Amino acid sequence: MNIIVNGVRAGSKATGCALCGATWGDHHEEMFGEDLFFCCDICAAEFRNMIEKALQNTPINKIDELRINGNYRDGRHVVINNEKNSLSFYVKFGPGAVIEEFRMEK
Ligand SMILES: [Zn+2]
Repeated sequence: MNIIVNGVRAGSKATGCALCGATWGDHHEEMFGEDLFFCCDICAAEFRNMIEKALQNTPINKIDELRINGNYRDGRHVVINNEKNSLSFYVKFGPGAVIEEFRMEK
């Protein structure tokens, strides 16, 4: 999975947190069969929650590319791509990795 956070490659210890791009911390979780790096368990939980929410009621079960633009305060615009599908959405988290706002975007 290609993960790009605010225009920069992310998702590994060397490149940064798969959600926010931060390079501190050391939290790993396996998602979609891949070992992803997160700065902390909150980012990992937010990531998992937003992907589950975005993919529910869709036939998408594989992500080739994930583009995340934004931050905690403003929310994030996210694009999921694979060879067949493209999905765009906006997500904003509240405390405790809870999704506060979510909408599909065109
Ligand atoms: Zn993070």
